[in-house]
Amino acid sequence: MKMTPKIEIDVVTIFPEMFEAITKYGVLSRAIKENIVAFKAHNLRDYTRDKHRVTDLYAYGGGPGMVMKPEPFFDFYDYYIEKKEKKPYVIMPSPQGKPFDSTDAERLAKKRNIVFFCGRYEGIDERVMNLVDEEFSIGDFVVTGGELPSMLMIDALCRFVPGVVGDINSVKNDSFYNQLLDHPHYTKPREFRGMKVPEVLLSGNHKKIEEYRKKESILRTILKRPDLFIKHDLDEMEKKVIVNIIRELILNEK
Ligand code: SAM
Repeated sequence: MKMTPKIEIDVVTIFPEMFEAITKYGVLSRAIKENIVAFKAHNLRDYTRDKHRVTDLYAYGGGPGMVMKPEPFFDFYDYYIEKKEKKPYVIMPSPQGKPFDSTDAERLAKKRNIVFFCGRYEGIDERVMNLVDEEFSIGDFVVTGGELPSMLMIDALCRFVPGVVGDINSVKNDSFYNQLLDHPHYTKPREFRGMKVPEVLLSGNHKKIEEYRKKESILRTILKRPDLFIKHDLDEMEKKVIVNIIRELILNEK
C-alpha cells in the first residue's frame, strides 16, 4: 500500500528540469521515491492561454527587463485548489523577503501543502503577491531566478519532515538548531599528516565526549557567530561547560 506523503511540495517555474538537482540526488530524492515527500515541478507555460505560451512581457512605465505575467500564476492557483480541494501555502522567493532561517525551515516542515512561485527577470507582477503567504530571501544578494532559492528552502525544510533524515537527532545537532553552531567532526585515520584526532573522542567516555562537543560548539558560536549565542538560552549543562571554560582560562593565566 502506498503511504500518504507527510508533505506535498509544488513549484511553479519556467525551468522545471532544474529541480532534478533535488529529485535525482541524495536524501531528498530517496524521500520523494519513498513518497514521504510528494514533489512536482510545474511548467508555468502549461498555465498560459495564448498560442505562444508567453510568460513575461515588458514593464508598464518602461525600464529594462521583463516582468512575469500574473495570469499563469493565478490560473495555476485555481487549478491547484480545484484539484486538491484545499488552498496551498504559497511562498515567494524574493531578495525583498524575510531572511530565511532554520526556525522557518522547521515551521514550514509542519505544513501539508506548500507551493513555491519562481520568478525570473525583474520578478513577478506585483498583483501575484495577493496569493502569497510568505516572502523569503536567501541572503542580501540577487540571483537570476527563484529556482535555486526554492531548492535551498525545500531541502532545508524537508530535513525537518519526519522520516526524511534517518535520525532526526542529527538534524537537531546541526548548526543553528537551538542557536548554536555544530561541534567539529573527525573520522579515521587517528593521525593524518601530523594532525591528531582529539584524545577525548577516542576515550569511549560518553559523558566526557558530550562535554567536549558542547564546549566546542559553544566556543565556535561565540567566536564565529556571537549574534546567535546572545539569543541562545543556556541549559544547566551548558552553564557548567562555560564555568569550566572560564575557570580553565583563568587558571592557565596564573
Ligand atoms: N528585481 C528584483 C529585485 O531587485 O528585488 C530581483 C529579481 S531577480 C533577478 C529574479 C528572481 O530571482 C526573483 O523574482 C526571485 O524569485 C529570485 N531571487 C533573486 N534573488 C533572491 C534572493 N536573494 N532570495 C530569494 N529569491 C531571490
